[in-house]
Amino acid sequence: MLRSIKSFDLKNKRILLRLDLNVPLQNGVVADDFRIRSALPTIQFCLESGAAVVIMSHLGRPRGQVNPDLSLIPVGESLAELLEMPIKFSADCVSEDAQDVSLGLKPGEIHLLENLRFHDEETRNDSNFSAQLAKHGQIYLNDAFGTAHRAHASNVGVARQFTFKGIGFLIEKELRYLQNVIQRPQRPLTLILGGAKIDTKLGLIDRFADKADSILIGGGMAFTFIKAQGYSVGKSLVDDSQLKMAGRIISRGQSQRAKLIFPSDVVAATGLDSAQEIGVYPVKAIPGNLMGLDIGPRSIDRFTQVIRESATIVWNGPAGVFETPGFETGSLKIAEALSDCSANGAITVIGGGDTAAAIRKFGLLEKMSHVSTGGGASLELLSGKQLPALTVLES
Ligand code: AMP
Repeated sequence: MLRSIKSFDLKNKRILLRLDLNVPLQNGVVADDFRIRSALPTIQFCLESGAAVVIMSHLGRPRGQVNPDLSLIPVGESLAELLEMPIKFSADCVSEDAQDVSLGLKPGEIHLLENLRFHDEETRNDSNFSAQLAKHGQIYLNDAFGTAHRAHASNVGVARQFTFKGIGFLIEKELRYLQNVIQRPQRPLTLILGGAKIDTKLGLIDRFADKADSILIGGGMAFTFIKAQGYSVGKSLVDDSQLKMAGRIISRGQSQRAKLIFPSDVVAATGLDSAQEIGVYPVKAIPGNLMGLDIGPRSIDRFTQVIRESATIVWNGPAGVFETPGFETGSLKIAEALSDCSANGAITVIGGGDTAAAIRKFGLLEKMSHVSTGGGASLELLSGKQLPALTVLES
């Protein structure tokens, strides 16, 4: 059982809180504060319960080197602004000075530690480093869902040092939507898949084959399935190493609960850099010199019809190259259909990463029941895998 933040007596305690504050920065300021905002309920609950909070996070991939461009200072500034209070900051997460600041914290105060990954011991899950981190707090709480699929010092090693440990509100919410909703879904349950990488999503297809009522497959990954059915896909994205697996999934067909639905038409062009000859083609007749970059209008109609009849919808991977004008329509129409479904009482779950970026671009983020803060972690959880940062907290 995972212990909820609500089950602890936090009064006058120092909480060591692992957050995922890995946000995009632009010119030294936070460009998107979604992950910071998502962490606020847990921080505020600790403060209101009379605790002091020591926050630790990673940012980017400094690979064990101090890199001023990946400092958490702008994140601290954004957090201080959102909470409307000052925040103490330490430039090295395991220095004696930093530990002294934590020891001297009064209830209601926050101490933010500099980027954990300035030390390569973090990603190596080094036990000495975990022990140093553990000195900052008396209770350990993890609310960093985005890294829960990785076994690092700040989310696995450190947890072993604590008797009192549990999860915050964000991880609780992620589990509610990505685990519980799927276990007992309101039906019909539809899974929408897309994006470029097919290999990361095969686990999801396997798990949902007997859980979902429909699986809609768009994006670049659809072309591996289309090629596996014997059609020519021109210059479209294909992962040849997954052709056999794609063929097997298609041939399972009738023996599984979920109906597999592929695009019947695509928007294709000569390529992404110089998108010439843009047109709509049936998937069975994609010209040899063209590349499929979005699902076509007939596919959009079919996909959105299935979506509108669903009571629970899980979406992972955009239907096309939504970043480029001309190829975002499929993802936009799916996002709009989901938004309508949410308004009509359906549960809509977005698996983070690029899908969340697409929905943010369309301004529909707030319309979904849940948008995951973790791309990789949400994929693994939805695929039914154990997340090491959660397993270590089980008691
Ligand atoms: P993934 O990380 O596997 O979910 O892939 C997300 C990326 O897939 C996005 O950046 C999209 O631009 C890209 N994508 C979606 N559809 C296609 C397509 N038809 N061809 C190539 N890339 C695509």
